[in-house]
Amino acid sequence: MNKKEIEKLEKKILKKEKLVFDDLASREKKAMFELTEDYKKFLDSAKTERQAAAEIIRIAEKHGFININEILEMKKGFKKPDKPDKGKYYSIFKNKTVALAVMGKEDMSSGINIIASHIDSPRLDLKQNPVYEDTDLAFLKTHYYGGIRKYQWLAIPLALHGKFVKANGDEVEINIGEDADDPVFAVSDLLPHLAGKLQANKKLSEAFEGEKLNLIAGSIPLGNDKIKNRFKLNLLKLFYEKYSITEEDFVSAELEVVPAGKARDLGLDRSMIGSYGQDDRICAFTELKAILATENQDKTAVGFFFDKEEIGSEGNTGAKSRFLENFLSDLVFINSKNSSKNSSKNANDQFHERLLKKIILNSSALSADVNAAIDPDFKDVHEKMNAARIGHGICITKFTGSRGKTGSSDASAEFVGRIRKLFNEKHVVWQTGELGKTDQGGGGTIAKFLAEYGMDVVDCGPAVLSMHSPFEIASKTDVYMTFKGYKNFYRSFV
Ligand code: MN
Ligand code: MN
Repeated sequence: MNKKEIEKLEKKILKKEKLVFDDLASREKKAMFELTEDYKKFLDSAKTERQAAAEIIRIAEKHGFININEILEMKKGFKKPDKPDKGKYYSIFKNKTVALAVMGKEDMSSGINIIASHIDSPRLDLKQNPVYEDTDLAFLKTHYYGGIRKYQWLAIPLALHGKFVKANGDEVEINIGEDADDPVFAVSDLLPHLAGKLQANKKLSEAFEGEKLNLIAGSIPLGNDKIKNRFKLNLLKLFYEKYSITEEDFVSAELEVVPAGKARDLGLDRSMIGSYGQDDRICAFTELKAILATENQDKTAVGFFFDKEEIGSEGNTGAKSRFLENFLSDLVFINSKNSSKNSSKNANDQFHERLLKKIILNSSALSADVNAAIDPDFKDVHEKMNAARIGHGICITKFTGSRGKTGSSDASAEFVGRIRKLFNEKHVVWQTGELGKTDQGGGGTIAKFLAEYGMDVVDCGPAVLSMHSPFEIASKTDVYMTFKGYKNFYRSFV
């Protein structure tokens, strides 16, 4: 073969890696910057799972989504909802997990298109008995939530978000540390001069103790030095004056400590976003935008926004719960024709049950979560042929897990093939990735809990730098490509 022929062959058979920026039309560049402005606002207003759930519902309602409970009430013969029923429904469960649906033209029994992300992020939670004093300082004790690198949470401004449920049942929400005028909190760190024995010569995993992640919260005493625990007392007095909160109220509270401050443009060219909580609000946001852009499509589109992924999807609001099938069961119910008089209630229930199973089994799902991008300073933890890169588009992660894919659902070649075909046809810039090189570490997502139902599912989302840190980094081009990928998935027949 001559040089020209070889070049022609290369073009034909070698896989091409695309940078999103090389592939964007100027119209799309404009759309990308508009989308990411919205994304930053979402990050700022949704720093906890409760806030994210409320924000998703607020935006969905603005776009004509109706609480599915109102439709269920109407089916029972109660009054119609105030808003027109456009086949767009939502459900929120325990204020922490959300589902949205846009009914398609096709019957649901042939399957629906599901995207599922998570809206919880690693953080510090206050313990149930958190308030104490030591050396004339008042503190709040924490127990961390999810996989954090403890040293990253020292000596940075922290905000406190959450909710108290008082003894009489009243609820009090608090949000301290986000406004420029608000005070913030901090966990102190050792000065370098004295860190030698205690930190610098220890293994990193032993140098920072979870029990020492205590939040400095005050230093003014109440009364004179005859009063016992007067620093603790003054802190509790401030909580009491402002929120009518007593020490016992902390027992029935969920107070989450997160990095204070807003999402920021990163880089002189403003090409990236730095923010807390992008794992996985980058997927939650793009999933939300994708379903809002879905109308008159063939397959019913459903978006789930789960809680508790960072601690293994446990609990009644995690992906291991029955929320998915409960919501889909409601969807089936409100779309079923009124049962014929001849068939018994039992037969109807059986029909409903079988139909629900069939729908779930025939469905396709994207587990919308982030992957780790190659960090140029830590290339060694990746295997570069199979690692994701910043700015290279939505990442298809066929398998996760660790020690030989353990804990992974491992998507099939057939399903990955269908997603790849879709993305190629729709000009979605995509890449593949795995979470670190073989035997380096690993991680899991909610994919396996969806796969349990028998549906096809693959992990699919952008790659980020500094994942799980207080300031995660993502490329705006990847936000845009993820949105484009999800939007086309909802419109597809994969
Ligand atoms: Mn995640
Ligand atoms: Mn995570």
